[in-house]
Order: sequence, then C-alpha cells, then structure tokens
Amino acid sequence: MILIDGKKIAADLRAALAEKVATFPEKYGRVPHLVVVRVGEDPASVVYVRNKARACDAVGIRNTTLVQDENITEEALLELIRSLNADPEVDGILVQLPLPKHIRESKVIETIAREKDVDGFHPYNVAGLWQKTPHMNPCTPAGIMKLLDAIGVDPKGKRAVVVGRSNIVGLPVAKMLLDRHATVTLCHTRTVDMPSVTREAEILVVAAGRARVVTANMVSEGAVVIDVGMNTDPETGKLCGDVDFDAVAQKAGAITPVPGGVGPMTIACLMENTVECFLARFA
Ligand code: NAP
Repeated sequence: MILIDGKKIAADLRAALAEKVATFPEKYGRVPHLVVVRVGEDPASVVYVRNKARACDAVGIRNTTLVQDENITEEALLELIRSLNADPEVDGILVQLPLPKHIRESKVIETIAREKDVDGFHPYNVAGLWQKTPHMNPCTPAGIMKLLDAIGVDPKGKRAVVVGRSNIVGLPVAKMLLDRHATVTLCHTRTVDMPSVTREAEILVVAAGRARVVTANMVSEGAVVIDVGMNTDPETGKLCGDVDFDAVAQKAGAITPVPGGVGPMTIACLMENTVECFLARFA
C-alpha cells in the first residue's frame, strides 16, 4: 500500500515555484503579491489564512493579510475587493470562506476580478473549466490531480467515483477526472446503495465532510483512495478525514492521510495559481 505523502509532494511543488519566483525580480522587477482577506475570527479561518501566508513566505511570494471586523457590511467588503482589483501591485485576491451570514458569498466571489481569482471560484473560471476555455483551476481539485500524477496513476480508462458534488470539490474534480478520460460516477446524499457504487471504483475521491462516510466494505482491493474530508473525529476530537483510514488502508492500493494528504496540495496549488495570475499580467 502506498501512503500518498501530500506534504512531501506539496513541498516539492513549492520548491519548484520558489526557484521560478526567485528569477522574477530580475525579469519583471518584482515578485507576485497575494492579498488574503479574512473577515472575523473564525478559528479554522485563522489557521488556514496563517498557513497560506507561511506558504507564500516559503515560495517568496509577497503576501498581505487584511483582517476585517466580522460586522463589516457586504458593500464595504465589496468596495475593498474593488480597490484590490484596481491595484496594479496586487496579483491575486482570496477572500477566506466561510463569511458571516449577512454577506452573500456569491456576491463576493463574482466581485473578485477574474484575472486575480486565485481560488478559481469566479463564475467565468468555473465556466472555463466546463467549457474547456482558459481558466484558473480551483486549488483542491487541482491538488488531487497532482497527487494522482505524483504516484503515477493515469485516470485514463479507469473507473472513478467521487463522493460529494459541491461546487468547490466534488463537481470540479469529477470534471477534471472526466477530462483525463476516466469514467466518472458521482455520489451524494440521495445515492441509493452507495457501497455498491464505491466498490466499483479504481480511483475513489471522497469529499463529503463526514467522518467515516467510507468504510472498508465500500472499497475494492487496490483502489486509490483520496480523502478530501477535514472533520473532527466524534470519538477522539482529533482532525480526521471522511474515510475510516485504519480499515481502508488495509485494502487500498494507495491512500492519502488526513492531515498530510490533500490539504498541503490545496495550498501549494494556491501558490501556483498566484504565480500564474502574476505571469498572465506580463504576457
Ligand atoms: P459540502 O459543500 O458540504 O458538500 C458535501 C457533499 O458531500 C455534498 O454533495 C453532499 O451531498 C455529500 N455528502 C454529505 N454526506 C454524505 C453522505 N453521508 N453520503 C454521500 N454523500 C454525502 O462540502 P465540501 O465543501 O465539498 O467539502 C467536503 C469536505 O472536504 C469537508 O470536510 C471539507 O472540510 C473538506 N475540504 C478540504 C479541503 C482541503 O484542502 N483538504 C478543501 C475543501 C474542502 P448532497 O449534495 O446530496 O448534499
């Protein structure tokens, strides 16, 4: 069984990016600049935003974190985004989700300039993925595809099952697997007899957001299992994925741990997207 070391694969990607970024001051007169906006003090968001800043530092990307009061009005936040859109010194903009309930996330996402949308959530970027026109890939699905590449798994011709159909993980990763010529099935809360579907998978991506949604009887021998979930284990209180790791690891051909699998890849892909946004401005 291969334990897919997302930490190492992400570190290699960051190192390659750092080498590239080191050449930018001479070529372009500056390095890329990512602005991350955090609204309020949600503990998970505080950690995610801090990790993003650390990754920027490791790659040599200039980064600014703007912390806004949780009571900021939607219009004030949109105005802040518009000013960042217009700032020639800003290459990438990320507004950490989730936002307080009084702010419409869809409004925020569509206000970020498409060419600075490092998350790949803007409707034009989403449409680009589905229409195969130029776009920014969303970070988590892109990170999953890189993990498969890193362990030499070619999706072409394989049966892939994705558990979860959210706009940020399930749907885009299903589309990316389809574009790499896998035969893809999506599962969700209305799927009847999910084990009979997941057992067919040669590649199983699980993004449900529920601990132990996938148990050993749902996985076929030798399957590649990518666990996207980030949950608190109801029994131990520790961070865990969606897959019953200890049992599934006995059957899987390869599996991602949580933490240390998809999470680091998401941030590495964010760094890659920031570099891409920067380079597009000089093209
Ligand atoms: P989401 O928007 O809540 O979507 C969850 C999806 O899973 C929905 O499509 C839901 O089906 C399906 N689902 C939930 N419970 C299920 C069950 N028991 N059986 C089958 N399907 C089920 O979540 P998300 O944003 O996609 O995130 C999923 C997980 O990935 C979360 O734990 C999140 O924290 C994690 N995540 C991790 C990263 C990372 O970098 N590692 C990035 C993003 C998200 P319906 O559509 O029928 O409701």
